[in-house]
Amino acid sequence: MSSIKVKAIVLNNKSVKEKDKLVCIYSLELGKIYVSMKGVRGDKAKLKSAKEIFCFGEFLLEQTKTNFIVTGVDIIDNFYDITKDIDKYYEGCAILDIVDKIENQSNPPLFIELIKALKVLCYDNVKKYYCISKFLLDVFNSMGYKFISEKCSSCGCILGKKYFNYDIGEIVCPACKTALCEPISDLCFTVLKLLSITEFDNLKNLKLTSEGIIEAFRLLCKNYYWRTENRILNVI
Ligand SMILES: [Zn+2]
Repeated sequence: MSSIKVKAIVLNNKSVKEKDKLVCIYSLELGKIYVSMKGVRGDKAKLKSAKEIFCFGEFLLEQTKTNFIVTGVDIIDNFYDITKDIDKYYEGCAILDIVDKIENQSNPPLFIELIKALKVLCYDNVKKYYCISKFLLDVFNSMGYKFISEKCSSCGCILGKKYFNYDIGEIVCPACKTALCEPISDLCFTVLKLLSITEFDNLKNLKLTSEGIIEAFRLLCKNYYWRTENRILNVI
């Protein structure tokens, strides 16, 4: 057996045997891995709180031939306040689910954005959908879809009226629109642009109209489905 330490966040867990948990963690070093936590379902278990979703810490693992066993966890933050607010909880769970569905490999930029998103969701007074929308924009960016542009992605003309082309995941002009396009209002485009240029740390200072953020979030959810064939969990 060899020991390894990883910085990771718990995405989900499931019960196995009488007192054990199989925990899915997303780690900075190894990407998504399943680790087993022994005897953590008892009230007095040492690692009890480390198995919970949102738990972020340094996990000490023993690698066996078949799996990883957790032998210790230094908890950095369990983002407890996210679980006290139903809207934040759903948004946080949806963010964890996105990472679970789209990325198995180590992806340090995504890991950093994930931690930033959860911190802001937990500690900053940001409005509903701001965090997850910003996170989805980051995810599309990391997939290579930098669609917030003043130019049509197909012909390069300066955009007036804008359409979102779900087939290619980019914004196009009226001349390039196809049957798979939907119009984007100027309000929605402004919201997407502001979210894309605002860092997570400054999200609390951003004021968006509620119609704008709802329209933007719907577009991002639909684009997420087109890009990954997954739906956003629980939210709306
Ligand atoms: Zn065009």
